[in-house]
Amino acid sequence: MNLRPSNVASHVAHTAAPEFLGSRMGAVSVSGSCTACGMCLVTCPTGALRPAAKRPIVIASRCTSCLACVEICPVDAISESR
Ligand code: SF4
Ligand code: SF4
Repeated sequence: MNLRPSNVASHVAHTAAPEFLGSRMGAVSVSGSCTACGMCLVTCPTGALRPAAKRPIVIASRCTSCLACVEICPVDAISESR
C-alpha cells in the first residue's frame, strides 16, 4: 500500500470500528424490489444491514461501501447511495 497520509487515513477509516466513523463512511440503499431473501444480511461483513419488516435497514455508520451486498443481491435491489 502507498503510505501517503491520505491513503493511511483511508485505510484506518475502513478498518477501525465503523460505529465511530459516522458520515465519513459510505452507504447503500435498498429499493422496493427487495424480496427479503436475506442474502445481503449474511453477506455484509460489518453488520450494516439489519432485518426489518419489508426490506433490510442500512446502518450507514457501519457501511464501508464494500458493495458485497450489491453483488450478492439476486434482484439488484441494492444500490450505492450518492
Ligand atoms: S456495502 Fe458492504 S458494508 Fe455496506 S451494507 Fe453492503 S455489504 Fe455491508
Ligand atoms: S439480497 Fe436483495 S432481495 Fe435479498 S434481502 Fe437483500 S436487498 Fe432484499
